[in-house]
Amino acid sequence: MTTTTVDKPLTEAEGRIDAATAVQLVARLRAICGDEHVLTHAHDLRTYQSDGLLHYHVVPPVAVLPASAGEVHDVVRVCHELQVPWVARGSGSGLSGGALPIENGVLLVLSRMRRILDVDLDNQRVVVEPGVTNIAVSHAVAPDFFYPPDPSSQIVCSIGGNVAENSGGAHCFKYGFTTNYVTGLEVVLPDGGLVQLGGKELDAPGYDLLGAFVGSEGTLGVATRITLRVVPAPEAVKTLVAFFPDIRAAGEAVSGVVAAGLMPGAIEMMDALAIHASEQMAHAGWPEDVGAALLVELDGSESECEARFDELKSLCDRSGATEVRVAQNAAEREVFWKMRKAAFPAAGRISPHYFVQDGVIPRTRLPEVLGRIEDLAREYDLKVANVFHAGDGNLHPLVCYDGNIPGQAEHADELSRLILQACLDAGGSITGEHGVGVDKKAYMPKMFTEPDLAAFQKLRCAFDPGGLANPGKVMPTPRLCGEVPGPYRVHPLEAAGLAERF
Ligand SMILES: Cc1cc2nc3c(=O)[nH]c(=O)nc-3n(C[C@H](O)[C@H](O)[C@H](O)COP(=O)(O)OP(=O)(O)OC[C@H]3O[C@@H](n4cnc5c(N)ncnc54)[C@H](O)[C@@H]3O)c2cc1C
Repeated sequence: MTTTTVDKPLTEAEGRIDAATAVQLVARLRAICGDEHVLTHAHDLRTYQSDGLLHYHVVPPVAVLPASAGEVHDVVRVCHELQVPWVARGSGSGLSGGALPIENGVLLVLSRMRRILDVDLDNQRVVVEPGVTNIAVSHAVAPDFFYPPDPSSQIVCSIGGNVAENSGGAHCFKYGFTTNYVTGLEVVLPDGGLVQLGGKELDAPGYDLLGAFVGSEGTLGVATRITLRVVPAPEAVKTLVAFFPDIRAAGEAVSGVVAAGLMPGAIEMMDALAIHASEQMAHAGWPEDVGAALLVELDGSESECEARFDELKSLCDRSGATEVRVAQNAAEREVFWKMRKAAFPAAGRISPHYFVQDGVIPRTRLPEVLGRIEDLAREYDLKVANVFHAGDGNLHPLVCYDGNIPGQAEHADELSRLILQACLDAGGSITGEHGVGVDKKAYMPKMFTEPDLAAFQKLRCAFDPGGLANPGKVMPTPRLCGEVPGPYRVHPLEAAGLAERF
């Protein structure tokens, strides 16, 4: 890590936090975490200017990398005393701009806190620091146990980030999301208070503040210690990929599988463009003249998997599968999954730039909404690759564009937002697992009423009356705590059809 010089950093921070506060802030942060863990030089800070959503970027004036819960606690307390806002950051793989720094605040980076504190297999619990990666939890409890929520980013994303985003992954259809696996949290509140929410037990008396914290996107405090539930690894896993002439046929297979009472561990779909892109990274030898691939995994007892696997194959055949390939061993299964998990980065092989969208629809509306996306792509003359958690109806359209062509990024952004609208029109949601962050906050009023949003705001203010934790994220209209939200009045421009309120 680069050690910064003293004069330059203070100038950087001073520009955006008033000079006297900046000097005091940096000195106090250094006293807590050590000089080398307080970054104030633009060269060092640029590393942190974006999360996975690169088109938003803000170079923070100060980044601090605490090594322990105690240091986090002291850092947040100093921010509270000086009334400096802050943003927590795990691995920065978020796709909604949640960890986007703010111009006038501290970036609190948790990546040094990577210790697995307790592996208690008898009670199926693991206690970790927030910077531990998702995959490290499963590695720590293998081979007899595993940690089911598995974002495709699992080799880098942190458990703290997973908690804040209530992250999902391919196995959520059967196993559920992060919220179903967090039993306890130690949290540093924005006023520097330290609270314990839940513990090792499955349910605790009192208000479900643990439930409120999971998915709160860094707006209620910093999770410094996380207790997770792990589950026994299944005795057997059987994986197949079925190829279909089009998405509609693959969608019918999904409905058939669910209607038959099969509960696959994962049921993932890729369209022709996504297959083409992933093939260039994973080299699985999948046919490219098909319309869709369905990756289905059954897990459970040996006998159950065996019995139901034949049923699964014939369901795929009956829905018009042109070919079904079964993974014959662990290596082949890994290649199947590599195809699926490579889909986001592989989009970079077929397009200079792309937006990853994340919307949810009722599963039964899949063919209709995918048809709508196809129509929109044609209308906008842009490619859209579809890869998604089909069992959950969680779509991830990848809207491809060339940012070097003037206006094309804006064009793609518009298309991407119309796709979200299509999800809402189908009775779905603006995000399945990537969160609201800065990217989707303008869409919150499309999904929630004013009283709904006011209730969210009351909760946020109860945790953070000063508005210091991740300000400007999630909620559509920044409001001070204590401000009474008046009834919304239609703006004359809106009434005239000249502007739209998001
Ligand atoms: C290629 C790729 C594939 C992906 N696949 C999936 C997927 O399948 N499923 C899925 O759900 N997501 C997926 N994601 C999105 C992303 O990986 C997840 O949202 C992940 O949980 C973010 O973790 P992070 O550590 O990178 O968090 P960051 O991006 O650093 O932060 C995310 C949010 O968490 C907050 N935060 C971070 N740490 C803490 C903490 N300790 N306490 C309080 N708040 C905190 C931040 O303020 C921010 O609001 C993918 C991303 C990429 C790039």
